[in-house]
Amino acid sequence: MMSVAPLIHDVTADRRPTAGRRLTVGLDVGGTKTACVVTDEHDQVLLREVVPTNADQLSDQLAGLVRSVTERVAATGAEGRVAAVGVAIPGHVETESGTVGLAVNLGGHELALGPEIERSVGLPCYVEHDARAAAAWLVEREGSVGQDLAYVSLGTGISAGVVVDGRLLRGPDGLAGEIGHVSVDPTGRRCACGLRGCLETVAAGPAIARLARSAVAAGRPTRLPADATAADVFRAAAAGDELAAELTAAVAEWLARAIRGLLLTVGVRHVILGGGVAAAGDALLVPLLKAIASERAASPLADAVFAQTNLEMLPPDVDAGARGAAAIARRRLNAEHGEGVG
Ligand SMILES: [Zn+2]
Repeated sequence: MMSVAPLIHDVTADRRPTAGRRLTVGLDVGGTKTACVVTDEHDQVLLREVVPTNADQLSDQLAGLVRSVTERVAATGAEGRVAAVGVAIPGHVETESGTVGLAVNLGGHELALGPEIERSVGLPCYVEHDARAAAAWLVEREGSVGQDLAYVSLGTGISAGVVVDGRLLRGPDGLAGEIGHVSVDPTGRRCACGLRGCLETVAAGPAIARLARSAVAAGRPTRLPADATAADVFRAAAAGDELAAELTAAVAEWLARAIRGLLLTVGVRHVILGGGVAAAGDALLVPLLKAIASERAASPLADAVFAQTNLEMLPPDVDAGARGAAAIARRRLNAEHGEGVG
């Protein structure tokens, strides 16, 4: 179904096997930032770049990014060349058609992202849900441990990519794992999705920033600036700021509950946190472990469910979504054009 436009370079003269020389670009589109990697056939990263997301002109921006990294990686003299593109993006992703919709933190428009990028850059483009792309890549990375895991993406939005018995959960509508829109506070704030009190309204990056700013505006003593970001809150909490520590503890409690819900629902025992908010590292992990410990102390059920759970925080320079997108492109390319397109 995916067509490959004629490539500029003449590869017919090169008779060496081509299967090992295909590079793939992986893009991970977040509400705030877009991460881009170029990887080789062994999943090694040749180039990495992070740019602010331009949600209004997304297809054009991503196509431009693909062209730019393709040229740059060629200029480094790296062997092989870019043969396909993978895009990881939040929302309702139709992998067959490459369309995305309902991405509430990206404006929510229906977008034929895959076909538009294919047309623009002349390479096959495969689109996958961001947390699922990351989870699929982590499964590969972790081998047998990863046959059963949940990747929780904490950023502008919150969602989970869940693998049970080696199978990626998708759901008939492709919305399995959208835990960011599970209600945690029915009387809470209206979410970008239209519902009230979703997990995203209390624990995603913009929510943390909003709560901090309103506390500063209300005159709470703190070293946080009036325009505090989520990253500021975690930094200040680690440095002993009382308000920041209070906000961080509240976020950790919401996340502990959400993770418990995930464990009880899908039964995974390996949870990996990533995304912009998880980049806080120990400043989030320490209060999260504390919140989990207090759940375990309060309940033999929570104790039983968390006792067998391995919690991991991805280092901020591991772009699981972008790596996953690049891996999907590589896999699809190998499957669809196994004889070699150059
Ligand atoms: Zn929502």
